[in-house]
Formats: sequence, structure tokens, C-alpha cells
Amino acid sequence: MSPNGLDAKTFFECQGGITYNDFILLPGHIDFSLDEIALETNLTRNIKIKRPVVSTPMDTVTESKMAISMAMLGGIGIIHYNNTVEEQVKEVRRVKRFENGFITEPVVLGPNNTIKDVDNLKEMYGFSGIPITEDGTLNTKLVGIVTKRDIDFERDRTKKLKEVMTTQLVTAPARISLAEGNKILKESKKGKLPLIDKNGRLVSLMSRTDLLKNEDFPCASKNKDKQLLVGAALSTREEDKERLAELVKAGVDVIVIDSSQGDSIFQINTIKYIKKKYPHLDVIGGNVVTANQCKSLIDAGVDALRIGMGSGSICITQDTLAVGRSQGSAVYHTAKFSKEYANIPVVADGGISHIGHIVKALSLGASTVMMGGLLAGTSESPGEYFYEGGVRVKKYRGMASHEAMEKGGGKRYLSSEDRIKVAQGVTGTVVDKGSVTHLVQYLMQSLLHSLQELGYRSIQELCNGLYDGTLRFEARSQSAQIEGSVHNLYSFKEPHLGLLRGR
Ligand code: GDP
Ligand code: 5GP
Repeated sequence: MSPNGLDAKTFFECQGGITYNDFILLPGHIDFSLDEIALETNLTRNIKIKRPVVSTPMDTVTESKMAISMAMLGGIGIIHYNNTVEEQVKEVRRVKRFENGFITEPVVLGPNNTIKDVDNLKEMYGFSGIPITEDGTLNTKLVGIVTKRDIDFERDRTKKLKEVMTTQLVTAPARISLAEGNKILKESKKGKLPLIDKNGRLVSLMSRTDLLKNEDFPCASKNKDKQLLVGAALSTREEDKERLAELVKAGVDVIVIDSSQGDSIFQINTIKYIKKKYPHLDVIGGNVVTANQCKSLIDAGVDALRIGMGSGSICITQDTLAVGRSQGSAVYHTAKFSKEYANIPVVADGGISHIGHIVKALSLGASTVMMGGLLAGTSESPGEYFYEGGVRVKKYRGMASHEAMEKGGGKRYLSSEDRIKVAQGVTGTVVDKGSVTHLVQYLMQSLLHSLQELGYRSIQELCNGLYDGTLRFEARSQSAQIEGSVHNLYSFKEPHLGLLRGR
């Protein structure tokens, strides 16, 4: 065994079945500070993003709220397709239309709702500034607003909102700029500024707290028109050509062909169809785990590949079908092949269950990581929180779980038209992780520290180190894994919930 570990070729090419937990990266030499490190990377052949993180197209992970946050933070979200064409397109449009500072489609109530309804919203979403419209939807006129100050001291929580709401409103036309809106908010000294259309209907809302937070997102992933980038998932079925046409009209930036085994004639035909009909639209193909599979999809014209089969936290493919690959080996071999063959970036998808797995995936040649379980349970993931054994949780389910397939999912699995559906995923829960903004910022700060410890100033340098042999690997025995994790404590508190134990 070498005193300085092994280069990747020696480590990965003489043994198989390696997972992220089976190896450790050895430290390098540090001669730079954290702020000299760049995390920019290629999502696809043509799309660059400033942070290497992608949220997966699963119905308990990515809809517009998640995709907006991911893009604001410099990554990207892929909208799932376990929904109607209209629903998926609506989610894409919401991301494309999003402007920081404007709350589009704010939560509203009607005059006959009660103070208790506001309390419930406060419990569920954390805010209590609620615009009131004629019928409690965004389709009718704005008639008032209820804020904390209107209901603070009211003992009778069954009282109707029409009795307590403020009707003297300061509003502004929907088309004003962020700067104009902020100016009105400052001068009016109000907490909320409703923006209305010419018929008096509420279009969006501005909040004083957001003005004060004034969060800046300098890394946001945007196109040349300053719209946030967003991806959408698509199956290889014939009828999805219509879905694709609508997604393109809505301005989708990248398509992910969602299939558990990507090396199929169906996917090859879909890729060729998309590249011919929409040559400027980037396509991520997959999922694949071998060099041969990569070759099929690269020859068909993909702009990036999605790597992983059965490594996801909710997956049971490897147990059920006995097909798949350990994620470490899969990422290493596919990334190396794709780079040498056509310089195509790969997305390491699934199995990022611990914070350190992100740098490990990148150290094996992935350009980005796609996450499901780690981002599920944040306030931006779809679904409501509930309590399980006294712990606040959210549902997280495989797209090939029985439950998701019943809702119309499972299109990524060729078996989905069978009468007997074989599940390749499970339904479970994950703990409340709070806001995805703080979570991803934490993950990215930790990635900067990892790169510094390794002695690389960028993801590109890390990749160079992988192939020139300066990045050094060592196997981790089971006892090494125990030693390298928290041990011998009666109890301990995680620095960030769910990131160490992968819950
Ligand atoms: P409130 O005064 O109780 O409404 O709460 P704050 O204004 O202190 O905080 C509300 C936060 O939730 C802000 O950051 C808003 O941008 C955010 N938010 C997101 N969606 C909505 C919504 O539909 N209504 C309101 N009121 N706030 C929202
Ligand atoms: P995680 O980040 O939770 O470890 O894994 C998420 C990944 O698991 C997804 O991006 C997707 O590739 C994969 N996946 C999603 N649902 C299922 C499923 O039901 N079965 C299998 N085998 N994989 C799934």
C-alpha cells in the first residue's frame, strides 16, 4: 500500500462495487483561502451553473418552489412529471416568471373565513399576513388584508375575517419594478404591499420583511433574459411529445429523460427526436451506470448523462431486480468514459445521503450531483409536514413506489403498463430540515472546505487531479468507517439535522 494512497485508476480499476462510504480522499497541500475557490461547473455540454447541485424530478422533491430556490442558489431544479401536462407546464412557468422580492400566487382567504383559519396558515407556513379576496381565491377582487396586528388580541378565534380585516389598502399596479415597490413599502410604512391588475385582482405581494432581509443571490442560475433556469422530466412515451412541445413553449431550459435503465431503443429515439426538432434544447439522458450504456446515449446526441441505478435512498431496484451498480464505481467509470469519448458531463444521481458524499461524487468525475432524500423534508419540497413519533416529518417516496405509480408515476420504468406493478421504490418519511436555502448554503460551504483540504481551487482542478493521479484515494474498512463517524457518545446533537445520519 502506498504511503500516499492510490490514484483513482489503480483504486477503481482493480476492484468493483465501490460505494461513497468505501473510500476516503487523502488531504493535499493548501496554499489558498476559501474565497479563492470556484464552484462553477457544467450541468450539460452547453449549460454552466455556479453550484454543482440539482434537485431530482420526484413528486416529493421538485416543483416550482424547490426549483426556484435551487436556481436562486446557483443550482437547478428539475420539475417532476407525475402530473398532467398542464400542471407540469404551470410549474415551469412559475419558475420562469419568478422575480426575487415578489411573492407570486400568495396565500389568500375570503371574508367568511375565520381568524382560526389564519392561525392554521401561520402554523403551516409561518406567516400570517393574508390578503382577503371576494371569494378567497386569486380569481376575484382584493377586498382587504389581515395581518398579525388585526388579530393579535382577539379572543374569539371563530370571528369572521370581514369583521377584523383592514380595508384601507395601499396597493400598487402589478407591473411596477422591484425598486418602485420597495420605495412604496418604505414610504407607506406598511408590512405588505399587494400588487393588483386593472380589474382589482391580486397578482402578487411584496413583504417588508423581505425588503429588510434583502437577500442577495449573486450566483443565481439565469438565462440571457435574466429568467431563472429550470429543467423538466419527460418519459420516452410517444404521448410525451406533446408534453415536450408545451414545455418548450413555457421556456424550459433542459430536459431530463427519466428512465431507470436509459440504454433502450425508446430513449435513443426520444433523444434523436428532441435534438432534431429542438436543436437548441439540452437533453440529459439516463439513467446509466456502464460505459456501454453511455456510448449508446452519447451516440444518440445527449448533452449530459445521469448516473445511478438502485443507489437512491428509497430504491429497492438492486434487491428486487438484482440489476444496478454501486454508485462510486458507476460514477467513476461513466464519467471517465464520457469525458474521453465526447467530453460529456455526468450528473451523479442518488445515494447522496451524507454531506461528504457531494465532494466524493465530484472527486469521481461527476460535474454535478442530483439529490432527492437530502432535499426532501425542506419547506420548499411538496407536501405537508406531519408528526411521526413526536418528530416533524414530510413524506418522501420513490417514483416507482406503489403509491407514486398509482398516482400515475412509474413512467421511468418500462413495466408501468403491466397489470401487476413491481415496485422499485418505497414510501417513507424524512425529518423537517427547514429551509432549503440554508441547507444548500451549508452544503456548499462545506464543499468549499473539502476542496481546500484536498488542495484544489475549483471543481475543474479536482477533476484534473482525478485524471492526472494527484488526487489520492484510500479504502475504508468497516472499522475505519466507524472510526470516522461519531462514536462512543451516549448522545449527540447533529450540526445540521439529517446531514450526518442521512435521514
Ligand atoms: P407575516 O407578516 O406573518 O405575513 O410574515 P412575514 O412578512 O414576517 O414573513 C413572511 C415570509 O414568508 C416572507 O419572507 C414572505 O416572502 C414569505 N412568503 C412566501 N409566501 C407567502 C405568502 O403567500 N404570503 C405571505 N404573507 N408571505 C409569504
Ligand atoms: P436519493 O437522493 O434519495 O438517494 O435518490 C434519489 C434518486 O433515486 C432519484 O434521483 C432517482 O434517480 C432515484 N429514484 C427515484 N425514485 C425511485 C424509485 O422508486 N426506485 C428507484 N430504484 N430509484 C428511484
